[in-house]
Amino acid sequence: MRILVAEDDAYVRQLLKKTLLRAGYDVLEATDGRAALECLLSVDGPRLVLLDRFMPELNGLSLCREIRRCTKHSYVYIIFLTSKGCKEDVLSGLAAGADDCLTKPCNPQELKALLRAGERILKLEDTIVHDALHDPLTRLPNRPFFLDRLSLSVSRGKRHPDYKFAVLFVDIDNFRVVNDSLGNAAGDWLLTQFAERLGRSIRREDAISRSMNAGPTLDRQDGGGILARLGGDRFTILLDDIQDPSDGIRVAERIQRNIQCPFAIDGQEVFITASTGIAFGSTGCSAAENVLSDAFTAMNRAKALGKSRYEVCDPVMHAAAVGRFRLETDLRRALEREEFRAYYQPIVSLGDGRITGFEALMRWQRPKFGLVMPSGFISVTEDTGLILGMGNWVLRKACRQLCVWNKQFPSNRAFTVAVNLSARQFAQPDLVGQIAQILYESGVAPFDLRLELTESVTMEDEERAARIFGELKTLGVRLCLDDFGTGYSSLSYLRRFSLDVLKIDRSFVSDMVSNTESREIVKTILRLGGNLGIEVIAEGVETAEQVSLLQSLGCEYAQGYFFSEPLDQSDVAQTLLLLGASDYSMPQGFPIQAVSPASQ
Ligand code: C2E
Ligand code: CA
Ligand code: CA
Repeated sequence: MRILVAEDDAYVRQLLKKTLLRAGYDVLEATDGRAALECLLSVDGPRLVLLDRFMPELNGLSLCREIRRCTKHSYVYIIFLTSKGCKEDVLSGLAAGADDCLTKPCNPQELKALLRAGERILKLEDTIVHDALHDPLTRLPNRPFFLDRLSLSVSRGKRHPDYKFAVLFVDIDNFRVVNDSLGNAAGDWLLTQFAERLGRSIRREDAISRSMNAGPTLDRQDGGGILARLGGDRFTILLDDIQDPSDGIRVAERIQRNIQCPFAIDGQEVFITASTGIAFGSTGCSAAENVLSDAFTAMNRAKALGKSRYEVCDPVMHAAAVGRFRLETDLRRALEREEFRAYYQPIVSLGDGRITGFEALMRWQRPKFGLVMPSGFISVTEDTGLILGMGNWVLRKACRQLCVWNKQFPSNRAFTVAVNLSARQFAQPDLVGQIAQILYESGVAPFDLRLELTESVTMEDEERAARIFGELKTLGVRLCLDDFGTGYSSLSYLRRFSLDVLKIDRSFVSDMVSNTESREIVKTILRLGGNLGIEVIAEGVETAEQVSLLQSLGCEYAQGYFFSEPLDQSDVAQTLLLLGASDYSMPQGFPIQAVSPASQ
């Protein structure tokens, strides 16, 4: 137990400290009243204090009164130190709020006895406080406790715009029937069992595995949540610091699942269901009571709509949260159900119109939704870590496909294939090993594989990025900086990380014909690439004007709808067949797109 000795006389302080240390206390010291007060009122400050009557800054009596005024703080047990024979000091000390008095010089036996009495009082206080904030039946936090925590979340939400939390209001359906037919004791037993299953439902297994996958950088503090019993068969859950509203839905789904199994009561199996209302709190929310009442209203709607279900307070939010939850659920199955597709967009040499390679771009054939573009799912797979499995899949797929084409369409130079790698994939500890393995399995020559990265991959840890880049280069793989010009570190970046290819971002290419500023940027990038011996590809080329401007600026390679949209593998093969036997170049000004439009 920690104890504060507030005493300005160094000699007395040392004597007391010695006795206390010998008795097993953890001793803190203060030499004036102000410091003592600060120490006692700090978070997790000591709850036992030996307080001298006379001290600089703030005397013992004022300090006593000050502490007793702070009712929010846990109780501090105060032993007042007075001089021998001064009865008045004792009385004024007790009147100011001290719990006991001890005359100096202190008798060690007497001191220890007083401290033991103090500890007993503090323990009792803890029990009282605990009981006041907990439900005796389930031992869960009660309504005041819950509201207190909820208001902390509400005020945190006001300070941090990104902070989100959810409140779930869970009510057992037809609980009265159980109570009336089986008796109150059975009802109580059911409530404790139910509470236990709710507790299990808020443990965030997937949140934990998510942050583990993300590596140390994305690590979040996932406290799980606070489960409380408001009274009767009503329970509430506070999910603190969630990433997305769908996290609330996930817990609600888990509750439904966890209460499906029957409850054993007096040798009987009892089936119950529950209705859950969900409310979300973020920057705009006003008070704890309002969030709770939103969740309550949503719970009532769940009851009205037929019970055994969950509802979100705001219908728009409901649709969004459920939509995101389904998206995530579907994505989790997409890989094993082989719903992902790799599309390939040709990269064309502006000198002779020859196709030099392809960029692999992911699509998702989602049942009932059709072909989904990356903008509809990539960010979710990054949040959930699903990108890791998916990324490996597309890498393997693209490498195999490249081998097939290089055999089927032998040309002077082999085609290359570019695969996108997101920051999260880049953060994997065994990235290089995985890539080496895939290269080995597929038989692709390492220098025909290009990894497309954005500047974001190096933001977390430049040292590591430089090392991985080096290892990949040693492997023989080519590195390509995607979306170039949109980041901020441009020049120094190129020097530091020896890159092979730059891709000029589509935004500059698309308006370079009309906008001089964009044209200047494109020119600068081309010059930069030329000076550093880096290959440059212009992305998003859509018009003949753009092609001729790029040619006049000396840009060697381009990619875009003008030549071809991303195509599936059979459309690529068909295009190559049409283009002819040896060089696969398209006639000047003749877009491949006209030959084989991709159906998207
Ligand atoms: P990105 O790497 O910048 O890919 C180029 C995007 O521009 C592709 O969009 C492509 O279809 C589109 N595009 C190509 N030519 C033109 C054009 O002339 N005009 C216009 N307006 N757009 C053009 P897509 O396929 O929708 O992919 C979007 C982004 O999703 C990609 O941007 C990439 O960041 C990401 N992505 C796609 N596939 C993968 C993947 O397998 N792994 C990872 N990590 N990310 C991927
Ligand atoms: Ca790319
Ligand atoms: Ca790009």
